Amino acid sequence: MKLFRCQNCGQLLYFENTHCERCSHRLGYLPWVTTLSALDPENDHWQTLAKPKLLVRFCENAGHGVCNWLTDPNRVSSLCEACRFNRTIPDLTIEQNLSRWRRIEAAKHWLFYSLIRLHLPLQSQIEDPSGGLAFDFLADAVGPTGPKVLTGHDNGLITISLEEADDAERERRRTEMREPYRSLLGHFRHEIGHYFWDVLVRDGGRLDDCRAVFGDDSQDYNTALQAYYRNGAPADWQEHFVSAYATSHPWEDWAETWAHYLHIVDTLEMASAFGVRVQPRVTRDETLSAKIDMDPYQGIDMTEIIDAWLPLTFAMNSLNRAMGNHDLYPFVLSPTAIEKLTFVHEIVHLNV
Ligand SMILES: [Zn+2]
Ligand SMILES: [Zn+2]
Repeated sequence: MKLFRCQNCGQLLYFENTHCERCSHRLGYLPWVTTLSALDPENDHWQTLAKPKLLVRFCENAGHGVCNWLTDPNRVSSLCEACRFNRTIPDLTIEQNLSRWRRIEAAKHWLFYSLIRLHLPLQSQIEDPSGGLAFDFLADAVGPTGPKVLTGHDNGLITISLEEADDAERERRRTEMREPYRSLLGHFRHEIGHYFWDVLVRDGGRLDDCRAVFGDDSQDYNTALQAYYRNGAPADWQEHFVSAYATSHPWEDWAETWAHYLHIVDTLEMASAFGVRVQPRVTRDETLSAKIDMDPYQGIDMTEIIDAWLPLTFAMNSLNRAMGNHDLYPFVLSPTAIEKLTFVHEIVHLNV
């Protein structure tokens, strides 16, 4: 993620801002130029202060305070490039659903920032009924015995359980599943990984290449998952996988690796935006040092990305520990995991 600057007054701005804190200008995000723009009202529309000057309108979901993205006023859809994929939004007559939806949309917009920066193909279910992308944000049935919503992906349809927007409930699930990390953004990055496996691997003619790296995905998925939940991950999983869950089936390995790839690229971009430099004073070990000055969304070498990422995570984990928090990146990347990340990197950039 980048940092932004108010075109009117020069104030530093963040992706989620809706108003400039210094000059009070209304702000909106222009997904096709990937910038946040200060706006002047212009009749029923808004004029961007970002160049080239454009007449725009807000996504319809701005009315609910869940989206700050702009659209072309001539577009038929009243929804933006991130919200047009929503198939089911939460029932807003239920108190607390709006604040949960806000948290879900914040994560989803962050995801779409990355997908657009990577020029990944995005087709909605309306454009491609047989496998296009759609989101359902669903609440569990009322009462303890009612069916529970499972977060997951099925042929383009991504379901996110509304309960996951509740910090206490998500933390309870994280502990129960013995996961070192669980976040809404992590769910989005993982589930979209399944979608892009369909699009870029299966339909992209890369199945054999992918199997050579991630293993044979033709083994029965449900049986594999049941075995994982019964037996857990093999003892040496860290030597081959980014997470314990990635051991359950090659599809999950791919989705977990894909999610890590997005974590890494996007966090490095932010570190670069802040001009972060890591140089531990107690060692001359070059592998622990990095001057993060790169655009990791461009097709740079994966080695460059990893060489910057490892020192950054050592530093960030230590900062988090100093604050009494969990590690920022509670994972270890083995050479095999890095090979898998490199495969994802190549598939993503082949597509451009
Ligand atoms: Zn300003
Ligand atoms: Zn929107």
